[in-house]
Amino acid sequence: MTVEAGATASRARPANVVVLACGGTIATVPVDGEAILKGAEELLAGVPALDDLARVSPRDVLRLPSHLMGLDDLATVARAACEAAAEPSVDGVVVTHGTDVLEEVAYLTDLWHDGEAPIVFTGAQRDAADPAGDGPGNVRDAVRVAADPRARGLGVLVTFASVVLPADAVRKVHTVAPTAFAAPRGRLGALTSTLLRLDAERSRPAPLPPAPLSWPVELIALTAGGGRALVDAALDAGAQGLVLDAFGAGTAPGEVVDAVAEATARGVLVVVTSRCEHGGVWPQPGRGAGADLAAAGARLAGDLDGIRARMLLLAVLAATGGSADAAAALLAARLPAAGH
Ligand code: ASP
Repeated sequence: MTVEAGATASRARPANVVVLACGGTIATVPVDGEAILKGAEELLAGVPALDDLARVSPRDVLRLPSHLMGLDDLATVARAACEAAAEPSVDGVVVTHGTDVLEEVAYLTDLWHDGEAPIVFTGAQRDAADPAGDGPGNVRDAVRVAADPRARGLGVLVTFASVVLPADAVRKVHTVAPTAFAAPRGRLGALTSTLLRLDAERSRPAPLPPAPLSWPVELIALTAGGGRALVDAALDAGAQGLVLDAFGAGTAPGEVVDAVAEATARGVLVVVTSRCEHGGVWPQPGRGAGADLAAAGARLAGDLDGIRARMLLLAVLAATGGSADAAAALLAARLPAAGH
């Protein structure tokens, strides 16, 4: 399906799009070695001809580089986006955000978003003072997607460098290039200067209730020859959930399996993901393999990557007030099947 950008054929009026500014490079102007962060209105002033696309309302949420955001900040952004999308007069929401943890905040927002209006995250690799910056074009594209009736019901999306990606699969794949994001399991669409193609439908699990992310969850990358020290340190620091980014199809050293058994016996939720980009985690037999980890009480995350599994654990613990049993039930309903 292809329509001209900004076309509102199925709407009798221009779309109402709220733009939430949350800081990041897209908002940053370097001045004398310091970073000044623009608010929403100032940021939109640098984006040409937005009025041609939609009736746009700028709002400020945060002024932070995303690498300095804490769990409260992630929740603030996700909640603000969901609340804006729930306003009856709003057709779509754009979130301008730092790119470094954008995929985590977009995924959290997708877990919480209960409604039809699309929420579209974007950002920039070049700062707001760069005459060749990618920010204004990315904002224009994000507004085009948020305003498009075909994006309704697609949940949370990321639009960046001419592609449209789903929040449950997007990854930052380049540190500096404008093509910063990709989705290994497929994109949802693409934009040219005048056209927008949105090909796919998305099925999303039932949304989780937004709540403060008060129960800490750590993500631990397993490394060759490594032991259980990081697992023990995370538990000593009070982690209520652990994600092990394991080897291959979900394998770990024997002493890590023993540490997992001790953790789950204490009521800590443990999820196993894979360091591999494709294929997911499988319940293979043998010491240290997926079935052994499952017998130790860990949940196998299928295709879900470690970064997202941690965010899911944070969200289910938050939704259940930290109850391990109730959180485990919510988790089980949301972990995808093993990879293919
Ligand atoms: N470190 C920055 C941030 O995530 C990078 C960016 O915005 O692109 O806020």
